[in-house]
Amino acid sequence: MKNAKIYIAGHKGLIGSAIKRKFEKDGYTNLIYKTSKELNLTNQQAVDEFFVSEKPEYVYLSAARVGGIHANNTYPAEFIYQNLAIQTNVIHASYRYGVKKLLFLGSSCIYPKFAPQPMKETYLLNGELEPTNEPYAIAKIAGIKMCQAYNRQYGTNFIAVMPANIYGPNDNFDLNSSHVLPALIRKFYEAKIKNKSEVEIWGTGQPKREFLYVDDLADASVFLMNNYDYKDIGAIINIGTGEDLTIKQLAEMVKNIVGFAGRLKFNADRSDGPPRKLLDVSRLRALGWQAKTVLEDGIKKTYEWFAGSCGKVR
Ligand code: GDP
Repeated sequence: MKNAKIYIAGHKGLIGSAIKRKFEKDGYTNLIYKTSKELNLTNQQAVDEFFVSEKPEYVYLSAARVGGIHANNTYPAEFIYQNLAIQTNVIHASYRYGVKKLLFLGSSCIYPKFAPQPMKETYLLNGELEPTNEPYAIAKIAGIKMCQAYNRQYGTNFIAVMPANIYGPNDNFDLNSSHVLPALIRKFYEAKIKNKSEVEIWGTGQPKREFLYVDDLADASVFLMNNYDYKDIGAIINIGTGEDLTIKQLAEMVKNIVGFAGRLKFNADRSDGPPRKLLDVSRLRALGWQAKTVLEDGIKKTYEWFAGSCGKVR
């Protein structure tokens, strides 16, 4: 198994890099990955040629166009086009060239904006989506449905995982396109260095979110690749900690870790997004997996990584 040929699509990103790190640590010897310059995943022919020449046995489909609430709202066309193109090409090539198993990275935003909490896998397509990231969510839902359709018609074993909000080293810390956690780390860090008296937090601070450390997601993804087939309990499964907190509580936590002494200023002109996005993780727990990293520890590690490599991040 350690010499299985494993393709990690998106190995430079937050999630793909954590999956790669895990395999390297565990002594896997036959990993395949390409930068987006070497292989443009939106180009069907290039993807086909790559699968013909490399013949991967297992695929982690973690390549995607991702971003926070502002980026999703600003670039809806890019979010739907790039995600549909990448996943369609990789899933179809995986079927065509006999991949044994594929794991597709979805997102908790596939669930309806006002879904009952915590959100079970069965709530998919039970209500309207959050409008700010609907194009992204529709692309991810298409990916799930494509995996299910190929499993049903072609007998493939393609599974899809729905992670909570992921954070960790290699995240995007650009304030215009990042998710909330890296944005807060950066804002408090810069405010501390510049001796500012307050930091702006978007929205009311009242929405609740669930955060999962990226190494836990990588661990769960490999666990599911080894221990879960789509035939077991359907093709989709949530990955989270089972706990959430308000953005205000999160901001207080990041503020303390970074050591910023000033105030929080909530800007309610900015969108809150969905009020809550807590995943029901009972399917995953029943298989015997549980998240290990406490939020505070994960934020500390991420902050250390950011502060250490600050000159290099955007
Ligand atoms: P979401 O989980 O898909 O809504 O994506 P985000 O991580 O972008 O946003 C989560 C919540 O954090 C939303 O309610 C945002 O309004 C709020 N938030 C507060 N400050 C920030 C910030 O500086 N950047 C981002 N991206 N979100 C923020």
